Amino acid sequence: MSSNTYPIIAVGASIAAISFIRTLRKHNDQRPVLLIHGEDRLPYKRTKINKNMVRGFGKDDFKMADPQWYSDQNVTLLYDRVINIDSNERMISTKSGKVFSYGKLLLATGAISVVPVISGLDSQQIHSVQNAADVDRVLAACNNKQRFLIIGAGVEGIETADQLVRKGKQVIVANRMQLPLQKLFPETITRLLEERMEAHGVRLFKGVSVNSITEVDGVYHTRLNGENLEFDAVIACTGALPNVELGRKAGLKVGQGIIVDEYLQTSDKDILAAGDVAQHKNGVVTGLWHAAEHQGQLAALNLLDKPSAHTLPPFRLKTNVFGLYLFSGGYEAVIPDVDEVQEQRHGNILRIMYFSEGKLKAVVFANDGDRAKLYQQALFERWDKKRVAHELPLPPKMSFLFSLS
Ligand SMILES: Cc1cc2nc3c(=O)[nH]c(=O)nc-3n(C[C@H](O)[C@H](O)[C@H](O)COP(=O)(O)OP(=O)(O)OC[C@H]3O[C@@H](n4cnc5c(N)ncnc54)[C@H](O)[C@@H]3O)c2cc1C
Repeated sequence: MSSNTYPIIAVGASIAAISFIRTLRKHNDQRPVLLIHGEDRLPYKRTKINKNMVRGFGKDDFKMADPQWYSDQNVTLLYDRVINIDSNERMISTKSGKVFSYGKLLLATGAISVVPVISGLDSQQIHSVQNAADVDRVLAACNNKQRFLIIGAGVEGIETADQLVRKGKQVIVANRMQLPLQKLFPETITRLLEERMEAHGVRLFKGVSVNSITEVDGVYHTRLNGENLEFDAVIACTGALPNVELGRKAGLKVGQGIIVDEYLQTSDKDILAAGDVAQHKNGVVTGLWHAAEHQGQLAALNLLDKPSAHTLPPFRLKTNVFGLYLFSGGYEAVIPDVDEVQEQRHGNILRIMYFSEGKLKAVVFANDGDRAKLYQQALFERWDKKRVAHELPLPPKMSFLFSLS
């Protein structure tokens, strides 16, 4: 084998690729892997970067493994970007001019943030929080800027707003939708969040689009709902899309993401795709850490000839913002087949559970975070109403409360 030939190459070194490698090694597959990492630091936990802006973080604080782990696992970690794939020759080329050939290729290139087009600003003037380096730039801006406009009130936008408020910044959030986190929670909970944000001094503009911003002497201006607003920096948290560019270059079938089957196989027999870049049955793209991790495992099992069919784990998201712990599992704005909705409150806990034929189908709650794992299990295992009432009672059992102290 020549030094630029690898039996396995993975492009993108985040959770999908790392869990792919972990699974190969767990099954005693020791073939050398070339892992190509397009960022400037050790592969890290992306979920942490916008939740730790108050404390700040060093370059490798959120690393998934030490450099030694990669060499112990017979993984060559290369800091470079792949710019082309020749799937006929099974070759890839990188930005720094290197060329490698592969036996099997994993594309785990994740998602890229959507940068809105705003008249008066060029894209360089718009921050995002997709990568750790992006967050570094926001933190650098915090050193001399006080007023921030955040565009978007999805999870990233709300978490970023929370962090900036906690850093003592003035925050405006411009939301195209009517309520924050509207896709993840019903109105009872989003209203609660909205109240909390306003109580923390966030100016929330609903149902608005930021179309134009002007800059005068380093100060930005826009007009929302007839009001003139001034701020010093703009952060777009307007979502992310599967990073399919390489898939296209390789001639793979691409929809919104790279189209894969339930074994994470693309339309090319030697190329797998996993994580945020992949598009599954019914056009689903996942965009969640645990889902990308799961897909990395299944891609490895496919490569090992131990295929395990991919069923997407139930969607769940947890976030801790403005003093609220929020959990959303299996929830969509319209949940099909739901025949019973239970809304319950106790103290500061508010929870809404959705049942279909007596089984738990979705659950959202505020402030019951100590039992999040149990809710998750209930959802994954589709507990029936009786079991939910018994194992997740509201109010929580006293013994549970005591065990927390
Ligand atoms: C700020 C933020 C907070 C989040 N918080 C949560 C959360 O709380 N809970 C949750 O479940 N999910 C969260 N997510 C989503 C979660 O991080 C992703 O679902 C997950 O990281 C996807 O993993 P992945 O391996 O598919 O790809 P990614 O983590 O997107 O990584 C892809 C990697 O591929 C690299 N790459 C791309 N193209 C190339 C190329 N041509 N050459 C070399 N390298 C390349 C990229 O630079 C990147 O490092 C968050 C996302 C962000 C941005």
